[in-house]
Amino acid sequence: MNVTELARKLRIHPKELLEILPEYGFDIGKKAIKIDNKVAQQIIKKWRYIKRELDEKKIKEIEEQKAKEKELRKEQGIEITISDLITVRDLADKMQMPVTQLITELMKNGILANMNQNIDFETAAVMSEELGFTVTRESGKTDDTEVVEDELEGILAGQKNKTTRPPVIVVMGHVDHGKTKLLDTIRQTNIVDTESGGITQHIGAYQTTWKDPKTKEERDLTFIDTPGHEAFTVMRSRGAKVADIAILVVAADDGVKQQTKEVIQIIKAAKLPVVVAINKIDKEGADVQKVKTELSHFGMIAEDWGGDVPMVEISAKEKLNIDKLLDVLLLVGDMSADEITADANMPAAGTVIESHVDKGMGPVATVLVQTGTLKKNDPLVFNGEIYGKVRAMKDHRGNLIEEATPSVPAQIIGFKVAPRVGDILTVGSAKNAKKIDIKSKRAEQTGAETHMILPQNDDEDDKKKKTLNLVIKTDVLGSLEAIIGTLETIQHEEVGVKIIGKGLGNITDADIAKAEAGHGTVVGFNVKADLAIEEKLREKNVPYKHFKIIYGLTDWVKEELETLLDHEMIVTEIGILKVLAIFRTDKNAMTIGGRVEEGKLIKGAKVRVKRAGEIIGVGVLTQLQSGKSEVKKAPAGTECGMRYEGKVKIEADDILEAYTEESKVRKIEFK
Ligand code: GDP
Repeated sequence: MNVTELARKLRIHPKELLEILPEYGFDIGKKAIKIDNKVAQQIIKKWRYIKRELDEKKIKEIEEQKAKEKELRKEQGIEITISDLITVRDLADKMQMPVTQLITELMKNGILANMNQNIDFETAAVMSEELGFTVTRESGKTDDTEVVEDELEGILAGQKNKTTRPPVIVVMGHVDHGKTKLLDTIRQTNIVDTESGGITQHIGAYQTTWKDPKTKEERDLTFIDTPGHEAFTVMRSRGAKVADIAILVVAADDGVKQQTKEVIQIIKAAKLPVVVAINKIDKEGADVQKVKTELSHFGMIAEDWGGDVPMVEISAKEKLNIDKLLDVLLLVGDMSADEITADANMPAAGTVIESHVDKGMGPVATVLVQTGTLKKNDPLVFNGEIYGKVRAMKDHRGNLIEEATPSVPAQIIGFKVAPRVGDILTVGSAKNAKKIDIKSKRAEQTGAETHMILPQNDDEDDKKKKTLNLVIKTDVLGSLEAIIGTLETIQHEEVGVKIIGKGLGNITDADIAKAEAGHGTVVGFNVKADLAIEEKLREKNVPYKHFKIIYGLTDWVKEELETLLDHEMIVTEIGILKVLAIFRTDKNAMTIGGRVEEGKLIKGAKVRVKRAGEIIGVGVLTQLQSGKSEVKKAPAGTECGMRYEGKVKIEADDILEAYTEESKVRKIEFK
């Protein structure tokens, strides 16, 4: 077997392969071209083990390199200036560090942020110092000047006659711990007679009414109905603080899991009041004490253990203690009563929590009104652009409503273009807003939907690009963001990565369907494909890759992209021959004689046939003879005979330019 062929099979550069083989007892020489088939088989067999060691070595080298860089920065006292708020990308720029590296460093410290997200000065400073930088705070903005993060905060800061509004509650927790079930159960627990209402609609949020245990008055609660904290994080990352209270659902038979830990970090970062719902207590194997112990390791200590986190033991399925949970939510809301307020008498402002294009109705979106009152005919202003006006509004039961007051989720009809989840509606800024350019906005959004990681500006070029299509599943959101962040740094004119699906949790049928439809590969990062799923992947012929480290994944992506690239041809000129005689002419082949004028001739070389200075064709020298014997090479000055294969008929006095061609795999660099 050729070494290059083996290297291709193992997805490694031939040179690198030759260098590492001796370390693993395969002494085939650093310049070997061919390799014994048996030995090759042994290498292939052992490759998994070798690859793992190589990966580990690589990680160690990278860590060492990072430690060295850190020391160097410390020694040289490299300073950076950071403002009160800085995006991850800007901080990476200041550090002159790839943004993916910074995201990974942040992750190690339990901070999940994508490159466009803001982190505050304190966090940025701790991170920077850990990486060896000396930090100063940007002057100009002092602590006591309020930094208005975005439009919404500005508007909220301008509220005058604030009165209480229903608390907005978000349900978070590990996959399968019962978020959806709990939301369904609470929905059914509504004490208000729903006979008058229409059919339950899933519009991204709903309201339920509950009797206050102390005052006996009926009060509303708003629940965000998009379980899975991905959507919540998207909103958070755009600066919108939508929820007032979080319910952290933990299954009593499963305990604290990866996503539970992530949610705890998110809740802490957002300083969100929290109620823990220890769910599935009806199940055999439920162990409430164990869950409480595990939570206490993350600083979440139950009230009955002397801490300050209310915890309610429930069964969403058997509807156990749901009333208790609702009581506690009202109580927790009352503790933050000062903040759970709004001014109903101003133009509405709020956040898009759901958005889609309906086949019949066109773009439809749900806005959670956060202050003011949204009315029919109000202009729909996002980011200084008018997206349409409120033609009709519906509540979560599908009833038409005339107005939506604070904390009410309203499904709105009247958009010309669908806004994005997390976009901020500001009715009051209509005066200075411009009409939206529908066509360009739609084009922008189609690109955003598939998360095309290619420069978006040059459509024609992008279409020509060959893409590696991926459905990416990870165990935690942090990894997903880090992976996407890393893949975003691949920029190449001819090839690119296209993410056709992404999400958290194990591989599912839906992932396979997505990959099949999009001719993609399913990539699992620290998640599993069970036996049935593996079977299905094989059946559908959908490629599947599993990784445990990000470098493993990115290396694989690089290799795959390199195989998509057309190989580079390296042409080496080797010699020039003057044709002196034609001995024999066959169809597509000739036997000729000539003199090597410059360089040398090699058996197997390609030749350009030149007549009167013009190239008239190409061929190959399949045999070479000097005197009576066959040779492999003929140096300058020798007269030799040769067998030529090619379409063009050679004549005496023609010039043959001999050259070799080597196809070389091109490399792709990550920024
Ligand atoms: P999510 O991924 O967190 O939204 O979880 P789901 O609400 O989809 O629930 C996952 C599974 O657990 C479903 O099969 C539910 O029926 C089940 N489940 C949810 N709550 C309970 C509960 O209180 N008791 C029991 N026995 N099963 C539950």
